[in-house]
Amino acid sequence: MTLTTKPRGTNDIAPGEIEFWHELEERIRRVCSAYGFQELRTPIFEHTELFQRGIGEATDIVEKEMYTFLDRGQRSLTLRPEGTAPAVRAFLENNLGAGSLPVKLYYYGPMFRYERPQAGRYRQFVQFGFEVFGSADPLLDVEAIMLPLELYKACGLSGFEVEINSIGCPECRPNYRQELIEYFEPRIDGMCSSCKSRLHRNPMRLLDCKVEACQEVLAGAPPIAKHLCADCSQHFSEVLSYLDALGVEYKLNPRLVRGFDYYTKTVFEVTSKELGSQNAIGAGGRYDGLVEELGGKPTPAVGFAVGVDRLLLALKVQGKLKSEETGPQAYLVHFGGETKRRAAWVAHYLRSHGFWVELDYLNRSIKAQMKAANRLNSRLVLIFGEEELDRGRVIVRNMQDGHEQEADLQELEQLAKMVGECAK
Ligand SMILES: [Zn+2]
Ligand SMILES: [Zn+2]
Repeated sequence: MTLTTKPRGTNDIAPGEIEFWHELEERIRRVCSAYGFQELRTPIFEHTELFQRGIGEATDIVEKEMYTFLDRGQRSLTLRPEGTAPAVRAFLENNLGAGSLPVKLYYYGPMFRYERPQAGRYRQFVQFGFEVFGSADPLLDVEAIMLPLELYKACGLSGFEVEINSIGCPECRPNYRQELIEYFEPRIDGMCSSCKSRLHRNPMRLLDCKVEACQEVLAGAPPIAKHLCADCSQHFSEVLSYLDALGVEYKLNPRLVRGFDYYTKTVFEVTSKELGSQNAIGAGGRYDGLVEELGGKPTPAVGFAVGVDRLLLALKVQGKLKSEETGPQAYLVHFGGETKRRAAWVAHYLRSHGFWVELDYLNRSIKAQMKAANRLNSRLVLIFGEEELDRGRVIVRNMQDGHEQEADLQELEQLAKMVGECAK
């Protein structure tokens, strides 16, 4: 059973499905390069401390969702649950901030979280995200919202909504925390156990609790706005003015705080109505303190991440991703023996010229080989008959119109040209 069953929460992406992924990946690359982002690839696992420090101890991820293990050298390692902390680590370790600023990096790859699997949510999931290091410019916060919107638009997706909030900085948050604690303390008895345990450690995290029983209390919680320091409040109003200037629609959501400790100032989330209850398809924010927290010099930064599995699901539901019908340019039919050797040689020649070429490996009858060529949707069939071979020739049949002609096997260049023309 375990030999033929994948672990819970994981996925195989087989032919038939992978084409959708390739298409989406291609669109991601195109939009990223338009915004001047370059790809960063980091390891699948990192030292556990990186995530404990980088994500924060009082978070769902660190408390209960990480795949952490000791390797044979007794080091504690963790399969990456997100991409920002590794990006910061790589930014520092490779001294990427030494050149011109800002540095714009994007990443794409599998992440791992021990969660209850549901539609579009897996334990191994693919995330695309990007980070900008080295500037506090509010325009970058706005571009961090626009890039994913451009991506969604490039995918033909609609029905999405941007929610935005400012959660301040270490200077303005203590007063807000205090106000939240004072608000929640007399009401905490009716709230869930994770709210209870976080009340004093991280009261802002209570705001995005999804538990039904907590919602009524949360609805009355005070917003941060009046606690924002001059710098944060100026920054946020500039963010909003750029959004207005660029025609990006958004909704202010004072309860949006995001699940990570490292965010400062702007946080935002993009949702799509097409996705039901798990409707967040991407989220991000500014994290001006994280680079310093992880050992670098103070470096403002802003980033965004999208769950690609869910995005892909949304695009498929809406019929926005099509896998193109493809097939080999030529299928080489042979009679075994010397004809197979010649077919193998021609296949090698055509493949080295970039053509997709198939031939029979099962010693099937000619009829069965023709059937296989049809099933694969091959444009041409090259028939290596003994009698034709004696004359140094091969039959070329166009599968669309049934037209047949002969080609000279001494003139393979000529044959490749013929395959190229028929395959258009
Ligand atoms: Zn502030
Ligand atoms: Zn709760």
